[in-house]
Amino acid sequence: MTDRYALFGNPAKHSKSPQVHAAYARETGQDMTYEIIEPPLDGFAAAVATFRASGGRGGNVTMPFKLEAFALATDLSERGRIVGAVNTLKFEGNRIYADNFDGVGLVSDIQRNIGLPIRDRRVLVLGAGGAARGALLPILEQRPTRVVVANRTVPKAKALENPFAAFGNLVTGGYPDLGDEAFDLVINATSASMRGELPPVTRAAFAPGCVAYDLVYGKGLTPFLALARDAGARRLADGIGMLVEQAAEGFEWWRGVRPSTRAVIDSMAVPLS
Ligand code: NDP
Repeated sequence: MTDRYALFGNPAKHSKSPQVHAAYARETGQDMTYEIIEPPLDGFAAAVATFRASGGRGGNVTMPFKLEAFALATDLSERGRIVGAVNTLKFEGNRIYADNFDGVGLVSDIQRNIGLPIRDRRVLVLGAGGAARGALLPILEQRPTRVVVANRTVPKAKALENPFAAFGNLVTGGYPDLGDEAFDLVINATSASMRGELPPVTRAAFAPGCVAYDLVYGKGLTPFLALARDAGARRLADGIGMLVEQAAEGFEWWRGVRPSTRAVIDSMAVPLS
């Protein structure tokens, strides 16, 4: 029987996840479907229950339901517990297993696809929302020299110290606290690029030859990436690789087989110029 998976989000119709999972299923010969479910904002748990009752085997979760998915899980991975939000669910009997592969996908893309080892690098993360939160643990696990998180709303950045400072050298604050410090890897984990906005970071943050990574994808050369290019970044990237890599992690967790990601990333990439 064909196994069913789904993406739960609102809005979610724009998502590229169905294309990604269809490509993985084709490549690995898995008999499965992957659909989009867009529950009303107060209807996530009910939508999951309906999907499970009709034979659903698992799903991805995107905004705004990652915290609710965390609350719904019966069995959380350690990573999911530390992050406090999950993006992948697996249904087995009456259990709901949950994990968060967003940050792992980001780190895979940076290290494997872009070729920048994070170890011993200076890393700047802009933003302190769910995506930044999900990224921190996998980044710190690579043992960078230092990770600085800057956010417009400073208390949200400060709130990350307690769960994550135990895992490495983590400093949090506002944009003015950055001063003239330069970084080898600058990650824009804000949603500013969705609206063509630039978070208040300056050219000084980009060390010569650094990598600049915008989590938003499909928008081409965002104001953040343009600033990085002008400041001398050697490599610009958007978040399509992160999306594809986190999907591969989830796919392997569900199906027990690892799909290849390179061709999928290439088929979905848009020029960053
Ligand atoms: P949240 O809504 O949780 O957080 C948004 C963050 O962006 C906050 O830190 C907010 O700051 C900051 N922000 C928004 N606008 C501005 C601005 N103009 N200037 C400075 N800071 C700004 O969103 P998420 O963390 O869940 O997602 C962030 C982005 O990452 C989204 O656009 C999403 O598309 C993308 N993403 C990509 C993924 C991928 O696979 N490529 C996976 C997950 C997310 P403040 O706290 O001050 O409001």
